[in-house]
Amino acid sequence: MRKFDEKEIIIASHNPGKISEINRLLFPYGIKTLSAKSLQLPEPKEVGKTFVENAEIKARASSNASGLASLADDSGLVIPILDGDPGIYSARWAIDSSGKKKSFAFAIDKIKCAFKKKALSPGGHKAYFACALCLCWPDGYVLNLEGFVYGSITFPPRGNKGFGYDPIFIPTNHRLTFGEMSPAIKHALSHRADAFKKLTMCCFN
Ligand code: IMP
Repeated sequence: MRKFDEKEIIIASHNPGKISEINRLLFPYGIKTLSAKSLQLPEPKEVGKTFVENAEIKARASSNASGLASLADDSGLVIPILDGDPGIYSARWAIDSSGKKKSFAFAIDKIKCAFKKKALSPGGHKAYFACALCLCWPDGYVLNLEGFVYGSITFPPRGNKGFGYDPIFIPTNHRLTFGEMSPAIKHALSHRADAFKKLTMCCFN
């Protein structure tokens, strides 16, 4: 496995929340970080069929445009009984049919409707969050890793501490939703934390 010994890395994202979370996770390794947003790099179309493919598209685009190493994350909520929805379209479920960006309450309501369409009650179904990380070196070598957190869906939504689908997700062996938990507890349990643990074991230690 290739070790990461570059001095700087681009966080291949235009999402400020994601950039600050990845910055925080990379901080202990003393690597200088830049972001695709701050460098105004173009945002590639996420045309992959999996989280891994989309993370790799984003990482390769940032590396090609800058000549530097880059790290991308693609994540989302998977509900197997809804055929894996919203899955890789998790962010897009918060966009209405006219292309307007809505709040996550809108996306959560769409999930409720999807259960109703299948004549299912909305609560109690198994679900998981997935996070794919792709680390791309300047010579085009890539490392892909995935992290997961398993749990179940609950309705009505609870808590306003997180973002996205946090208010309807209860991790296994917990009572609180991700939206009710303190960020420190969520960040220790999350799919992103799991993926980062694997990444640091592979190439930052
Ligand atoms: P991406 O920017 O294409 O990776 O989209 C990720 C989307 O997945 C976000 O916009 C959220 O809807 C959802 N998501 C990913 N991680 C989380 C999480 O930790 N909590 C809640 N929602 C998440």
